[in-house]
Amino acid sequence: MKRVLVLGGGVGGTLTANLLARRLRRRIDRGQVDVTLVDEAGAHVYQPGFMYIAMGGEREEKLSRRERSLLDSRINLVIDKAVRIDEGAGTVTLAGGAIVPYDFLVLATGARILPEVIEHFEAEAHHFYTAAAARKLRRALDAFKGGKVVVGIASMPYKCPPAPLEVAFLIESELRDRGLREKSEVHFCSPIGRAFTIESVSEMATPILEDKGIELHTFFNVEAIDPERKVVESLEGEELPYDLLVLVPPHKGQQFLIDSGFAPAPGGWLPTDRNTLLVGGRPNVWALGDATDLPLSKAGSTAHFEAPVVVEGIVAGLEGRVPAGKHAAYEGRVMCFFEVGDGKGTLLRFDYDHPPQPPKPNVFWHLGKIVFNKTYFHTVPKGRV
Ligand SMILES: Cc1cc2nc3c(=O)[nH]c(=O)nc-3n(C[C@H](O)[C@H](O)[C@H](O)COP(=O)(O)OP(=O)(O)OC[C@H]3O[C@@H](n4cnc5c(N)ncnc54)[C@H](O)[C@@H]3O)c2cc1C
Repeated sequence: MKRVLVLGGGVGGTLTANLLARRLRRRIDRGQVDVTLVDEAGAHVYQPGFMYIAMGGEREEKLSRRERSLLDSRINLVIDKAVRIDEGAGTVTLAGGAIVPYDFLVLATGARILPEVIEHFEAEAHHFYTAAAARKLRRALDAFKGGKVVVGIASMPYKCPPAPLEVAFLIESELRDRGLREKSEVHFCSPIGRAFTIESVSEMATPILEDKGIELHTFFNVEAIDPERKVVESLEGEELPYDLLVLVPPHKGQQFLIDSGFAPAPGGWLPTDRNTLLVGGRPNVWALGDATDLPLSKAGSTAHFEAPVVVEGIVAGLEGRVPAGKHAAYEGRVMCFFEVGDGKGTLLRFDYDHPPQPPKPNVFWHLGKIVFNKTYFHTVPKGRV
């Protein structure tokens, strides 16, 4: 029997496991292949919904499902934390002490957020990268009576590159709706020399920032927060006073991947082939989603488009052939909805060779994001889209 072990039950891991179950159905039923997924939480969380807890009346309980309820019944689910990969032995050790063998390994353990890395972050800054933090931001917005709002990014890389710009746009709209705009300034800090990493998206977003009177600060990498003076300081030497500070927290890959020699410190991102998604030249270990070091959006849609390539790689490995067909290689495909406030949105669709050409923001793409959010659990993790 060949064993496929998937670590992580988020977008990438769940979809990969379900697609494997579909393609390997007969071999699993005959006992020739075993597919096991290990997830430490046992719950699958739809993280894009966090932004709507802060900005759109979403409720946390709507954003989570039991992992078992999303997985094909042919997949074994183990709820535990992977703490070590022993490559020589071909095993993964779990926190509970179990040792799980693998012939093929999929690393889909996402990213960690680390607000504590920046002193005073937790007391002074808000974010929306967990449900609890998003609720706290909502309370702060409700209590806000006008002043300086600063939205920024602590460091690169981070999940969902459009999210901080979206939140700046949504906060600005809300302040207008609540009659607080005249009494407020909104600032957006970008760590690079423009509003967004991809040039064509910057060209779309910059005039919207200007129209809405949101001041753009480029080359602003957050270095420190001074709680006494209520200023956020950049590595580049700029200081911005705030009354409400919203920062994307620092992100890293999982520590056990560093400890097991799979990912370099300090970032912990897995060195991943941009086409095959194999990790560090190993023939039987793949990565997808946020855990990789690929210079692409850390987005659910990235994991969504990568999963069929990982599956084809594993099936080809089982059959002793090279990957073939339309999922033989990942072409860098990503697709993200992008809110711009006032009930409008746009769409970023791109791959390695084709940068996004976002359509003029309109109501349609905003509604598209809402419908996608509402239908997510029935579609993406189950491999129905
Ligand atoms: C506020 C916000 C807004 C977003 N908006 C969008 C959006 O609009 N569009 C979009 O495409 N993406 C968006 N994203 C990004 C998207 O949620 C992630 O890119 C996506 O979840 C990545 O999938 P993944 O499978 O790589 O990781 P995850 O979905 O994070 O799953 C990782 C899984 O691994 C498990 N795990 C971790 N470590 C271990 C371990 N040691 N042992 C066992 N299990 C482990 C975790 O329990 C988790 O279930 C957003 C994210 C946030 C936070």
